[in-house]
Amino acid sequence: MPRTPRLINGKPGIAFELQVTYRCNAVCKFCNRLVGVLPAGDRDMTPEDAREAVRKLRTAPFSIYRCKVTGGEPALNEHLSEILHIFAPIVHGPGRVLTNATRPKHRASVELPPGWRWRRSGLDDMSDMRSGKSYHEPFLISPRDLRIEGEPPCDVLGRCGRVYEKEGFTFCGVAGSLGRLLDIPVHSSEPVLDPDPRVCQHCIHSIHRPIRDGIFEMQRQGHLPAVTPTFAAALNRCNVPQQAQRELLEIDGPETCAPSTCR
Ligand code: SF4
Ligand code: SF4
Repeated sequence: MPRTPRLINGKPGIAFELQVTYRCNAVCKFCNRLVGVLPAGDRDMTPEDAREAVRKLRTAPFSIYRCKVTGGEPALNEHLSEILHIFAPIVHGPGRVLTNATRPKHRASVELPPGWRWRRSGLDDMSDMRSGKSYHEPFLISPRDLRIEGEPPCDVLGRCGRVYEKEGFTFCGVAGSLGRLLDIPVHSSEPVLDPDPRVCQHCIHSIHRPIRDGIFEMQRQGHLPAVTPTFAAALNRCNVPQQAQRELLEIDGPETCAPSTCR
């Protein structure tokens, strides 16, 4: 369940995430930003984007009590220092910048605002950019394909919060990737609080942890595919090469169903 928001300046405090780039120097299996699956494109946040977002966030019906900065690898955004300093005044608690910890020189060139810290989320093998992270779980399993009803609000919303990225505001950190894959517009020019059921119905995070763990165990044992029909159709529609699908999404269980079998 989401954590109880505290009041800051009379407004509820929420967690917030800045997604500053979709570029990454690593290629992890099950990366939920779809690095190596969909092209990153020109999606690095600029200082101008950041200033416009802060202008809107100052009048939003909530305050930001903590901020997480993600990518891709955030250190690859050449404007990261400036962007963080633009956002820092409206963040009333800790600021953390996630990094895969492989680029110390990039990090050293970034000046963090006072009180902000790097948070390492390192690869299993720091010398192998394809080694991934052992705690990653397949996320292209659609609850709807399994005929399971999700139970919003999901735990991601409370933990990671609402998001701003190059394309605009959205409701969670995976919405940008899932929306792009499923061809559902998820961005707004104004801050977004409410999740979009069109996306959430296909998101594995909409299922509570014990059931989710059971699904992952079934997938590990080969009783479920790592990519269910909705996402198999989406990957094909996005022209993702079969090789990338197999390598990065580890389709090693049962064959994914043909798109025509989607519900
Ligand atoms: S380091 Fe993070 S963003 Fe980069 S590929 Fe791995 S999971 Fe994705
Ligand atoms: S898409 Fe919906 S269910 Fe999935 S993490 Fe985002 S808000 Fe939660």
